[in-house]
Amino acid sequence: MIQHICDRVAVMYAGKLAEIGPTQTLFDAPKHPYTEALLSAVPRPDPRLRRKGDRIRLPGEVADVTNLPTGCAFHPRCRYATDLCRAESPPLRSLGKGQSAACHYADQLELAGTGVP
Ligand code: SF4
Repeated sequence: MIQHICDRVAVMYAGKLAEIGPTQTLFDAPKHPYTEALLSAVPRPDPRLRRKGDRIRLPGEVADVTNLPTGCAFHPRCRYATDLCRAESPPLRSLGKGQSAACHYADQLELAGTGVP
């Protein structure tokens, strides 16, 4: 629904912006692992396009905003987390085309979008 009625989308995690950008750009090529996980739950209208293992199931619980983990608040649940993520909070930074993400590896990870036009 959001994909079809909004021009821009913002994704929040633990009270902070994780990613923001033009809707179709963000759905096609997310730059934050939390966005990728959320998009993996979007139902595909054509069941033939479903692939086993597409859905990303995040471990653990949503971060407690009164007691956030050190570094990136998403790191305990992130499949791409490194020592840098556990030590330093990533700033929200521009990645071009109006898209910004708060991830140390936003310009290096190849994350999956919905694949739904
Ligand atoms: S900074 Fe690290 S832990 Fe945070 S979203 Fe990016 S890869 Fe994951």
